[in-house]
Amino acid sequence: MARQAVSAADFVSGEALRETQLGRLQKTVARAYERVALFRERMEERGIRPEHIQTLKDIALLPFTVKTDLRDTYPTGMFASPMAEVVRLHASSGTTGKPIVVGYTKGDIDVWSQCVARALACGGAHAGDVLHNAYGYGLFTGGLGLHYGAEALGATVVPVSGGNTERQVMLMKDFGATLVSCTPSYFLHLVEAAEKMGVSLRDLPLRAGFFGAEPWTDAMRQRIEEEAGIKAFDIYGLTEVCGPGVANECECRNGLHVFEDHFYPEIIHPDTLEPLPDGEEGELVFTSLTKEAFPVIRYRTRDLSAIFAERCDCGRTIRRIRRIRARNDDMLIIRGVNVFPSQVEAALLSVDQTLPHFGIEVSRVDGLDQMEVQVEIPRHLFSDEVRTLEALQRTISDAIFHVINIRVNVTLLAPGALPRSEGKAKRVMDKRG
Ligand code: ADP
Ligand code: ZN
Repeated sequence: MARQAVSAADFVSGEALRETQLGRLQKTVARAYERVALFRERMEERGIRPEHIQTLKDIALLPFTVKTDLRDTYPTGMFASPMAEVVRLHASSGTTGKPIVVGYTKGDIDVWSQCVARALACGGAHAGDVLHNAYGYGLFTGGLGLHYGAEALGATVVPVSGGNTERQVMLMKDFGATLVSCTPSYFLHLVEAAEKMGVSLRDLPLRAGFFGAEPWTDAMRQRIEEEAGIKAFDIYGLTEVCGPGVANECECRNGLHVFEDHFYPEIIHPDTLEPLPDGEEGELVFTSLTKEAFPVIRYRTRDLSAIFAERCDCGRTIRRIRRIRARNDDMLIIRGVNVFPSQVEAALLSVDQTLPHFGIEVSRVDGLDQMEVQVEIPRHLFSDEVRTLEALQRTISDAIFHVINIRVNVTLLAPGALPRSEGKAKRVMDKRG
């Protein structure tokens, strides 16, 4: 498939795009109103009917959908297609209680695959590439999402999933992977395993990586690119909206292009819930425009971002969202100060001698919040004098203080001391109860 054919929808005129979006929005709202009880009730409470949606701005008339709505209707209460038309189910991990279950028709899978193909094309992938896909296969959307998208692009997929990291290094090498996809934290694990095996990823044909499913900073990007000799692209998505492939960075890497002919983005003020103008930071909200089995209307992602509407240098006309610095849920409140793990990551990686593996432990001692940051450092540093290590601790603590304005205890660990994850990294241990 020619590159242009894959991504033609990324380059349509703004006017044509808005027209497409409005038509699709009207159809989606009508479908959800007819078929999803919870949505219809919410509309009725507000005295709104589908025909009230006359312009894209009218989207603000529609009720929001939140995660608990999807839990309360477990497993299939929000489906808009009969099960006979549902060809696949996925579920989000759901840290507590019941997971969120989403369904796809054949058409939904096709659209999703096209979006992932466009996401990969954003990062310069094309037919003939070999994708080493180390996202987990299963109920998690990452593995199968990338899988079908890469096939739609005409690439060769190696469906390796997570785990057995040393074998993965061997396969990457032997199969000549040119692309890789996984969480950024798992990729670091792969780099490390390769090193131990005496393989430098820099010597492989590997050219680009598509990393997502968790927040990662530009500092982390720099480390990854240096160590592996690749270009690292940010891929974003969430189960409720379909999975990966909702948005992706292009080669300009100044935000992620949203495939907004299928997923209409809004930014709202997290407290007032009012829509915010382009450029302002707030909570990202999505309305699906073409989904059949599981349409979502104004789904509140809890992810913080902003929409950039200016034309991108790559020529794509679809708008961009700023990289997701954090989920709202991930925010820690330490002695009244808001702290995001990504801020700690950026601070740590600004110090040369740190390795990109860290954890945060929060506890309460005598009623006061204490934060401890554990970070790995190269083994050879441990042979240095205690004074040198103390100086490093101090440098790290200062770097963190500089970013979050809180003094934290820093623990230096040997390489490999922290647990490695195969999927999303678990950075925070909050023991405050
Ligand atoms: P769960 O909610 O169980 O983690 P999902 O896989 O659906 O299951 O997670 C989607 C969430 O993962 C997003 O809402 C966002 O918080 C996070 N996420 C996904 N991709 C990225 C990314 N590229 N950058 C930052 N966060 C991301
Ligand atoms: Zn671009």
